[in-house]
Amino acid sequence: MRIQTLAFLLILTPVLLSQDQPAAQAASSHLQNELATLRDAALADDYAYQQAAHLTDNIGPRATGSPQAEAAVQYVAGELRQLGLQVQLEAVQVPHWIRGTDTAELIEYPGQVPATTQKIVVTALGGNTPTTADGLTAEVVVVKSFDALRALGRPQVKGKIVLFDVPFDKQKAANGMAGEAYGEAVAYRLSGAKEAEALGAVASLVRSVGGADYRLPHTGFSTPTAIPAGAVTSEDAALIARLSSQGKVRMHLTLTSQTGPDVLSHNVMADLKGSEHPEQIVIVSGHLDSWDLGTGAIDDAAGVAIAMETAQLLQQLHLHPKRTVRVIAWMDEENGGRGLDAYAKDYAAEFANHVAAIESDLGAAHPFGFQAKINPSALPLLKPVQDVLQSFGANLIELISRSPGSDIAPLAKAGVPAFGLLQDGRTYFNYHHSAADTLDKIVPEELRENAAAMAVLAYALANLPEPLPR
Ligand SMILES: [Zn+2]
Repeated sequence: MRIQTLAFLLILTPVLLSQDQPAAQAASSHLQNELATLRDAALADDYAYQQAAHLTDNIGPRATGSPQAEAAVQYVAGELRQLGLQVQLEAVQVPHWIRGTDTAELIEYPGQVPATTQKIVVTALGGNTPTTADGLTAEVVVVKSFDALRALGRPQVKGKIVLFDVPFDKQKAANGMAGEAYGEAVAYRLSGAKEAEALGAVASLVRSVGGADYRLPHTGFSTPTAIPAGAVTSEDAALIARLSSQGKVRMHLTLTSQTGPDVLSHNVMADLKGSEHPEQIVIVSGHLDSWDLGTGAIDDAAGVAIAMETAQLLQQLHLHPKRTVRVIAWMDEENGGRGLDAYAKDYAAEFANHVAAIESDLGAAHPFGFQAKINPSALPLLKPVQDVLQSFGANLIELISRSPGSDIAPLAKAGVPAFGLLQDGRTYFNYHHSAADTLDKIVPEELRENAAAMAVLAYALANLPEPLPR
């Protein structure tokens, strides 16, 4: 995920369904039974974990435009074909950014022992403009906010490396507002370089947007500029801030990434055709690309794997959705969103027939339920879903006003009911976009809960008598 700010929380009060006709009642209890069967099967199934394991351990990091990303496309397409789905690859031209050498040292600072330097742990941000192979050397100016940068003005910024030392609010994350904490800090990763460049800086660094303190840098997208852009670890940002409060600090910075020509890649789309309304579509999805430092397990092999599991369970249990369930493994969520742009362009005319879109892109931890951008009058219709998911505490539906997933944002904007799995985010940003986003961070039992939640919601949306009101 890129930006997430939590909106208001809506606590649901139980709503009684008024079913006057016995036939409607029978149909509704039939659906409820199917949903419970689906839940129980998901909670006992290992398919999603096996898929996440293959994507991460065997295929590896899946940066947009990389051979691994394309291998993942072919792999997921093959697996979904094997389940009997109608698979299409939607062409997406993606950027191809390739990491080079990422190093930094402080070469001058107060109290320096002669002939020594201090190592700084740094990573280039996606879309970085490289330094030369020899790197660049400049004084570092540390700021705590955009306002502080502007207050310094051009004379004090020109020719320098700007460091935005804005910490990720760990307390907020621990209190269940990880998305909000991320949203606050990530603004500097997204726009810091742009702001620094505007005042004549020669490079821009941000304090890593992440919650853990193991001196790990966290990469991510940065709005392209003509100056190099990187992220230093929290520890190193704090070190530089302390030293620069004592006197002049100069850094040697080398970030030698390259950007190749755009590459042909794909969104994977796989349909399990609806038996009554094949033209009506319920999307289940996650994004297939990842950052390059880790293997993209919680961001977002997990999301793709649980979306695949929805299809696997429906086929295994011979459950027939009345509307089409479309599994999508999105490409390039991380480095510009070309996959979502392509889908919005290619399928805009069919959005009226998109009944709902679900994405999972907040990790793989225990799900509390969903964030939803839906018409509040649709809530009572989701009560069967909540009843079935209550057994493992995944029955919350939190109404929000923005899209609950970046890939489904164009659909949400067009009024398609949009849902995002709401995982426990307390540890997510410790690993997010770092070298530590690896398979071991996925707890198999929790991944099964996510698979159950997505499958139950998707099947209900595919089989409710009427689509949700918009
Ligand atoms: Zn993501």
